Amino acid sequence: MKHATTGWYLEELCAQGYLTRREMLALLALAGGSLVTGCATNPVTGERQLNFMSPAQELAIDKQHAPDQISQDYGKVQDPSLQSYVAGVGKKIGAVSHRPEMPYTFSALNANYDNAYAFPGGTICATRGILLSIGSESELAALLGHEVGHVSARHTAQRMSQQTLTGIAVAGLGILLATQVDNDTAALALGLGGVAAGLLLAKYSRTDERQADSLGMQYMCRAGYSPQGMISLMDVLRSLSKREPNMIEQMFSSHPMSTERYNAMLQEARSKYAQFMSAPMNRERYMDATARLRRLKPAIDKQKKAEEALIAKKYGEGEGLLTDALQLAPDDYTGLVLMAKANIIQEKYRDAIPYLDRAMQAYPGEPQAKQLRGVVDAKLGKKHAALRRFRECAALVPASRATASCIAILEASC
Ligand SMILES: [Zn+2]
Repeated sequence: MKHATTGWYLEELCAQGYLTRREMLALLALAGGSLVTGCATNPVTGERQLNFMSPAQELAIDKQHAPDQISQDYGKVQDPSLQSYVAGVGKKIGAVSHRPEMPYTFSALNANYDNAYAFPGGTICATRGILLSIGSESELAALLGHEVGHVSARHTAQRMSQQTLTGIAVAGLGILLATQVDNDTAALALGLGGVAAGLLLAKYSRTDERQADSLGMQYMCRAGYSPQGMISLMDVLRSLSKREPNMIEQMFSSHPMSTERYNAMLQEARSKYAQFMSAPMNRERYMDATARLRRLKPAIDKQKKAEEALIAKKYGEGEGLLTDALQLAPDDYTGLVLMAKANIIQEKYRDAIPYLDRAMQAYPGEPQAKQLRGVVDAKLGKKHAALRRFRECAALVPASRATASCIAILEASC
């Protein structure tokens, strides 16, 4: 029974004093939905396979969980031309995939860590971190093609177990409201450096990864891109893992990376797809589309370093870097929320308030700042004000598990 593992995890948190028994029961009730798995056809291989969700379940899981993950990643980048560019490249890939009927959406998110991921219903996201690390449309096509490959081969549906999905509620902001939270748990609940995402997102096997690489290359060539983009992408990821071992660690926990994958792609490009090698990389078009984002790069680099400092409990250093980042980009939502988090993790709740208020102004409708404002209210003893904020968030994102867990914990303690 799936409940057993979830229950064990919550009971462990309870035994260690992180949750009271009432809080644990409230979260357990919230985690109650179970996944029914059955038999379905794999669209890539045509084989019947066990343990697949039905397509309707894939869409339901996507709808229920993608909004929380997107908010955890600071929402979509507020740059309509960048979003339509990313979506345009993605749609071309989706249309030539094994599941062209899926309602794919492709978005650039405000998170700084380097990653891209897919939910089983076709919600595909790439962080601004990874968009700044690559340098051509062909590499973007490879990145999105790899994710479309996971959706097409239904890896995401297979790997997204009930336990990981429940983790979205449990490891989310709700934990901050629990009776006693240590700094490591708080850093996890606050999603610093994307560390929480590694726990929440689907974890793929090496076989899945190799298949997604192959499918990605096949789709990008069909869509008119050079397979060279996939090889360059693999190279970018390889060098990132050397330069930022900590930041990239979680990317490789959801997408394990190796020289072997790089070599496999090189081999496939030279044999199966040699005739496509002269197709364009579209570097200039990519540079134009990401120009606004790239102007933020100095601020984003400071924020990345700040996140690493905060995870390492070097709070003064983290705050200093965030001050520098906010001088470079005063209205950057991620920068403002990160500064609030730097204060929250040090239990300086009042100091977090002005940054959260500025963040809510900078990005109205994005729920994370409002949720954190609720956490701060609750920590300052204003439980009813906190509940009001969380209920506003619940109206904004009805499916939000993060909000639901905050409400459940507060109601259990009021
Ligand atoms: Zn992958």
